[in-house]
Amino acid sequence: MERKNAWSTYSDKDLKKLETISKNYVKFLDNGKTERECVTEAIKLAEKHEYRDFAEVIAKGEKLKAGDRVYSNCMGKAIMFFVVGKQPLEKGMNIVGAHIDSPRIDLKQNPLYEEAGLAYLDTHYYGGIKKYQWVAMPLAMHGVVAKKDGSLVNIVIGEDPKDPVIGISDLLPHLAADQMGKKGSVIIEGEALDVIIGSKPVKKEDDKESVKDAILAILKEKYDIEEEDFLSAEIEIVPAGGAREFGLDRSMIIGYGHDDRVCAYAQLEAIFDINEVPEYTICCILADKEEIGSVGATGMSAKYFENAVAELINATGDYCDLKLRRTLAASRMLSCDVSAGFDPLFAGAFERKNSAYLGKGVCFNKYTGSRGKGGSNDANAEYIGSLRKLMDDANVNFQTAELGKVDQGGGGTIAYICAAYGMNVIDSGVAVLSMHAPWEIISKADLYEAVKAYRAFLVNA
Ligand code: MN
Ligand code: MN
Repeated sequence: MERKNAWSTYSDKDLKKLETISKNYVKFLDNGKTERECVTEAIKLAEKHEYRDFAEVIAKGEKLKAGDRVYSNCMGKAIMFFVVGKQPLEKGMNIVGAHIDSPRIDLKQNPLYEEAGLAYLDTHYYGGIKKYQWVAMPLAMHGVVAKKDGSLVNIVIGEDPKDPVIGISDLLPHLAADQMGKKGSVIIEGEALDVIIGSKPVKKEDDKESVKDAILAILKEKYDIEEEDFLSAEIEIVPAGGAREFGLDRSMIIGYGHDDRVCAYAQLEAIFDINEVPEYTICCILADKEEIGSVGATGMSAKYFENAVAELINATGDYCDLKLRRTLAASRMLSCDVSAGFDPLFAGAFERKNSAYLGKGVCFNKYTGSRGKGGSNDANAEYIGSLRKLMDDANVNFQTAELGKVDQGGGGTIAYICAAYGMNVIDSGVAVLSMHAPWEIISKADLYEAVKAYRAFLVNA
């Protein structure tokens, strides 16, 4: 069945709210180009809404009561927000979870070298990118350098209009006879994604590595870091510049990292808009490492979420393992991640009846996966039934979709990881065009509907 275009349902009040949310989202995207920056931004917003650091509450041995708000920061790269509800935790929580890592290009541990009078940073890309999309465009570097003395140096270069940018070169078409005959996956190879960062040598006796030396002098002067400090750094190369309105009608937003910061931001808008004491405890998760399989200490497969819920049980009563298991199993979750927007120019990759369309509202994916639903969390029909009512009651424009045509490919999210606790989980997010490209496109209307959907879910599920 055909779903309505959300734009056709809006009052002036809706349109005003939609524009405010879109503006704030663009700011969030511009300030949050890495998972660490997103955590920092989210904490800034949370503190405006009277959230306290859960680690401090725990350290003081304080108890929490209904209405209390805390955040739990995992290594500065993942974060959770909780509002304690009226009902005991064992009745389950209403959870929204998204990820704040995005596909990008990471620096290697020994990145710096000089070749043919140019200084380069060697890289290893992160997540599923089409490598050829990342060349011949302005790039920025964001990240941290951890020094031996324990201090952390923050680096952001290429965002201020006065900053220089960096980038990766491509071969001129005149000499690309061999390159143009290659498969897309090897037009630009992984080891060719090296970033040019300089060309001006320092004056010295022999000319050996003099451009590299000049770059090291700049790093020393501006950031007080040495070449060896790259060993303990996390520096991400991302598209330079801000997100912007897209389309002559300004109905869309083009930006880096909509996957999955659009859902992350919609969750934050939703949870920070809740001023009442919720019936059930509500939880908002922003996870790291989804793009490489939710692994590592800050990925959803780690224990930080379970540990935080255990602490919450302890802070609101007496802890026991059975209570923790009951709380998790009784919970309800929206795994909030982006969906592939139907693209008429690539219609052959989609099946029209079960595709997400830009502007038709928040998208529910009963299952994702690939090759016969492999690896998918297949949400329960009963759960979807209850969500249909919840969404209709809250006047949310929603659509349902699969990730493309059967046997065309596929993908995964964090849904199956939380479903393993026995809770009901479904994927729900915003449709994206050019997903995983340096610049992705979403509809403002879908962002607005996601905020409405997540708020309604957190309060009423
Ligand atoms: Mn995603
Ligand atoms: Mn992704």
